[in-house]
Amino acid sequence: MEEMNLLETVRKQICTCSVDLRLTPNVEELLKKPMHELHVSLPVRMDDGTIQTFQGFRVQYNNARGPAKGGIRFHPDETINTIRGLAAIMTWKCALHDLPLGGAKGGVICNPKVMSQGELERLSRAYMKAICRFIGPGRDIPAPDVYTNPQVMAWMMDEYASITGYTEFGVITGKPVTLGGSEGRDDATARGGWIAIREAGKHLGVYFAIRETASAMEMPVTNTTVAVQGFGNVGYHAARLAGELAGCRVVALSDSRGAIYNPEGLDPHSVMEHKKKTGSVTGYPGASAITNEELLELEVDILIPAALENVITAKNAHHIRAKILAEFANGPTTREAEDILSENGIHIIPDFLCNGGGVIVSYYEMVQNFTMDHWPATEVRRRLDERMTAAYTAVYTMVRTHGVPMRQAAYTIALERVVRAMEDRGWV
Ligand code: NAD
Repeated sequence: MEEMNLLETVRKQICTCSVDLRLTPNVEELLKKPMHELHVSLPVRMDDGTIQTFQGFRVQYNNARGPAKGGIRFHPDETINTIRGLAAIMTWKCALHDLPLGGAKGGVICNPKVMSQGELERLSRAYMKAICRFIGPGRDIPAPDVYTNPQVMAWMMDEYASITGYTEFGVITGKPVTLGGSEGRDDATARGGWIAIREAGKHLGVYFAIRETASAMEMPVTNTTVAVQGFGNVGYHAARLAGELAGCRVVALSDSRGAIYNPEGLDPHSVMEHKKKTGSVTGYPGASAITNEELLELEVDILIPAALENVITAKNAHHIRAKILAEFANGPTTREAEDILSENGIHIIPDFLCNGGGVIVSYYEMVQNFTMDHWPATEVRRRLDERMTAAYTAVYTMVRTHGVPMRQAAYTIALERVVRAMEDRGWV
């Protein structure tokens, strides 16, 4: 029976690396469990006057390398083990990208799609009120994730300011630019992912030409095809930048309601207009309807999962026909599926390498907040490119020198850094 619990997937990865790293059993044990977690009940007054109580969590997985960092999700199917697994992935992500931060994640079990703006604001404020003593710029810094956005971050920052009596921009990232947010944070995860794909292309003998950075204007369209699952913050920008940065043709897009396909190419801007009007990418004129499962199995050069975890499993891995699997989402591939993909020669860019752009620019947002500075987008993007390229190069060098898969190489580098910090602190 395949294991679909994200925390278990993470634990299996730690076991795989612990032999190479010669981890002692007590160190391995420490890496397999979150260090702190908070469970909260949030009473919120709904628009009809009733009180609804929501369950929320905040997990600080490991803070050996610095204050914990990670997003907040609002999702009806949230579970504590998903949040723990995501908090672990954040720990490895910050270490791999050499940020002075640990890993965390938060979540509230709710369905924001059926809540009014007023209800969402009251829920966001209730969550911050419940976790405010557990977080802080030197402790744990939240950010947006699935179904949360800069507006939610602004409400939470304002609630924190009301409670403490002073405005501390560095308590949360992914804020609007008017409230200490960074230029370039909106598309940072997707842009970082495309930088990783560019580096993969160089090493794999280039399936496509990708420009370093800059405007869409002069980019020639190539025959490279891309399918993107999920059309939110990460998925929309992933699809937009496919054309703008890489000249690739986006042939399929999807959201929670279904997927659309056009082998001639889709215009992400126009699909977004349609989604704003109708609430979904489905029904977009000039494209055929397919399922989210069919999207994953299309014969494309690059497959970008940018929605939720555990979508590529032992059940469908044999049918994946992409050349590159770029994990813009966290945890989209199960451990069992990964073995099948590797046997079939699919180049996987693992999540915490591929989607590190978001936390990298969140870290730049913190640096700007602490120094009361504001950097132009060009500066943010230059630094993002440098850091993504350095991480990709480190992972790929280990793949070449040690003959291990990409994810194992990324884990080994990240775990080694976390363990070294735990040793230096005298924990182990
Ligand atoms: P989002 O809420 O902005 O968008 C999520 C998208 O996924 C929506 O389009 C939604 O309709 C779609 N979706 C939900 N359920 C689906 C399903 N069953 N099938 C297909 N599509 C579905 O979230 P986001 O911020 O874009 O995050 C997407 C992924 O990227 C998550 O795994 C998240 O953890 C990861 N990630 C996000 C960031 C960030 O900066 N936002 C950074 C790193 C990683």
